[in-house]
Amino acid sequence: MRKLTAVNSLLKRNNYLLPRHGSSQTAAQRTSSVRETETETKLPKMPPFNYSPPPYDGPSTAEIIAKRREFLSPALFHFYNTPLNIVEAKMQYVFDENGRRYLDAFGGIATVSCGHCHPEVVNSVVKQLKLINHSTILYLNHTISDFAEALVSTLPGDLKVVFFTNSGTEANELAMMMARLYTGCNDIVSLRNSYHGNAAATMGATAQSNWKFNVVQSGVHHAINPDPYRGIFGSDGEKYASDVHDLIQFGTSGQVAGFIGESIQGVGGIVELAPGYLPAAYDIVRKAGGVCIADEVQSGFARTGTHFWGFQSHGVIPDIVTMAKGIGNGIPLGAVVTTPEIAGVLSRRSYFNTFGGNPMCTAAGHAVLRVLHEEKLQENANLVGSHLKRRLTLLKNKYELIGDVRGRGLMLGVEFVKDRDLKTPAKAETLHLMDQMKEMGVLVGKGGFYGNVFRITPPLCFTLSDAD
Ligand code: PMP
Repeated sequence: MRKLTAVNSLLKRNNYLLPRHGSSQTAAQRTSSVRETETETKLPKMPPFNYSPPPYDGPSTAEIIAKRREFLSPALFHFYNTPLNIVEAKMQYVFDENGRRYLDAFGGIATVSCGHCHPEVVNSVVKQLKLINHSTILYLNHTISDFAEALVSTLPGDLKVVFFTNSGTEANELAMMMARLYTGCNDIVSLRNSYHGNAAATMGATAQSNWKFNVVQSGVHHAINPDPYRGIFGSDGEKYASDVHDLIQFGTSGQVAGFIGESIQGVGGIVELAPGYLPAAYDIVRKAGGVCIADEVQSGFARTGTHFWGFQSHGVIPDIVTMAKGIGNGIPLGAVVTTPEIAGVLSRRSYFNTFGGNPMCTAAGHAVLRVLHEEKLQENANLVGSHLKRRLTLLKNKYELIGDVRGRGLMLGVEFVKDRDLKTPAKAETLHLMDQMKEMGVLVGKGGFYGNVFRITPPLCFTLSDAD
């Protein structure tokens, strides 16, 4: 806590804890604070950015809070003691109602892939909206099939058939149903600490109590999480995989529908799977007749830097891949890609999704693929992510509070603990630091079962100066 107090006083001295507008300081006092910032401390400055938003003339933060309380779900929550009202965004930056710029290191939960309001994505969507934005799959439209073709070209093996959905939950629901239909089995193995969605099947697969409501969730067995930091077998992937074998032997008929797993757990706190785990687990599941589903909702679309898809760094090829978030840079879109053989199960009945992959969303998706490619954003994620991870690791060497720094590319996690040996989650400190970072102009996400992990998943156009 001593170090936190030091951070506090540093921020206070440099005016970071004071509201930007309506401050009682005189201009001269403010100027002297700024000089003090520059001379006495090493607090980093925001990289220059050539855009100033026009004045905001919408409702005040207080009015929005009041309306949200009155008209929206009581289950809604927000980050920060004083919630942030974001009124505009450009690339890796967002602006509040006072025109203050923040560096967005969370990307709307790993969703903004190319950059907020990326012109090529915006133009593609607008162009499509003016032509036709909705028709359903009952009619032909080339936008949808062109994007499906482009999407399939990013995937290995026999992953050649696309089903479009509106969200990650829908994609995983569909994938789990296809696994069940294809194998004729019901049991699915997922990992503890995972997040796969909040509908009937996916809430069953999700394995964190705070995301599970008390309703019937059947047919999923939750394997020991191959978490190298907190897990019981450290980084021994094969030992963890033996639990999948045991679950199948002791908890099912010996035959299963499949396995679903994130390549890096996102909501669970950017947990990388122990090396060797996925190949061993896939092998066990396939021997029991199951298919393997890779949930790439967060780790897909170049985010992990070294590969376009997260599973590729584990050396496996799934039978079904699910995706959402980064696929549309913020436009609601999800997809399931699988083999022609597995895809065939849906022709047993009628399967229909009104909006799934409509022309507007797929125009966005196709533009995202072009931008990722043209702007070499995978390479950028690798370069900037590695740099940021190195610098975060240096901080870990300096501050006891940081228990672990992990992740790949621009999917990074920093876990805070009160005691490095006991790994006691430093939940209050995490919240406090997150709030302080917001005051400094940097937005990070939070996650992990104990709520003590910074999630750093910015738009992939994040620069080295942003990282610094
Ligand atoms: N899978 C993963 C890995 C996710 O992180 C999420 C959302 N956080 C989902 C599935 C569900 O996606 P959606 O919120 O779009 O339904």
